[in-house]
Amino acid sequence: MRKPMIAGNWKLHKTLEESSQLAAELVQQLSTINDRDIVIAPVFTALASVSKKITNSPIQLAAQNCYPAETGAFTGEVSPALLGDAGCHYIISGHSERRQLLNETNQFINQKVSATINAGLGAILCIGETLHERETHQMLEVLTSQIKEGLAGISTTQMTRVVIAYEPVWAIGTGVTAGDEQAQEAHAFIRGLLQGLYSQEVAEATRILYGGSVKPNNVDGLMAQTDIDGALVGGASLKAEDFIRIVKFE
Ligand code: PGA
Repeated sequence: MRKPMIAGNWKLHKTLEESSQLAAELVQQLSTINDRDIVIAPVFTALASVSKKITNSPIQLAAQNCYPAETGAFTGEVSPALLGDAGCHYIISGHSERRQLLNETNQFINQKVSATINAGLGAILCIGETLHERETHQMLEVLTSQIKEGLAGISTTQMTRVVIAYEPVWAIGTGVTAGDEQAQEAHAFIRGLLQGLYSQEVAEATRILYGGSVKPNNVDGLMAQTDIDGALVGGASLKAEDFIRIVKFE
C-alpha cells in the first residue's frame, strides 16, 4: 500500500550544465516508471532549470533545505513557497550534515517541516543516530526525540505529506551500509513510534526511506525488508547509471 520512493540527494555537486545533463538522462531512461516515486534534489541554483527538464516526466523535484518563513528580512534564505514556485514537490529537512555542520536542532527542523507542509509541499524528514550514539545505546532515545520533536504539531492529516528518511550517520558517505536486518529493525522501531504518536493507519501509510551508502549492489536487499519503503541516495545518485539501477530495484 506504500508507494516506494527513490530520492537522489545531489548535495553540493554539479554545475547547471551537469545538472541538466543528468536530469535529461534520467528522464530518458525512467520515463515509463509509474509504480514508484522518483525524486531528485539538485543544488538551489539548478532547481529551476532541472524543473524544466523533468516536466512531463515521472521525476519529481526536491530542495535540500528551506528557511521556515514565508517572506521577510531573512538575507540569504529561501522559503518553501518560493521552492514550490521553482518547481519543487518536496523539501528535505533534518539531514545529518546540516544537523552537524550547522547545528540544526529538532525544533528548527520541526519549523521547516511545518512550513513545508503549510506551503503545500511534501516534507522529507531525515533522522538517524551517530556511531557514538549507537555504541553507547542511545540510539532508540535519539530516534525517539528526533521523531517526536521533528513532528511536533504535525496533524494526522498533515502526515500524508511527510516522508521519513532513516539515515544512520555512520553509514552516510562511508561505504558502510546498515545490514538489511539492522536497517529493518530501526525502521520497525520508527513505525512503532508513529503508531504511538498518531495511529496504526498513519504508521502503515507513512513511507520510511533508508539512506546511507545505498548502491546498486545493496538496494535490492534493503528494499526487500518489510518496513523499508525506499531510499535516499547520496553518492550513487550522481551517476545516471547507478541511480537508474537503484530506481529499478527488484
Ligand atoms: P550516501 O548519502 O548515499 O552518499 O551515503 C546519503 C545521504 O546523505 O542522503
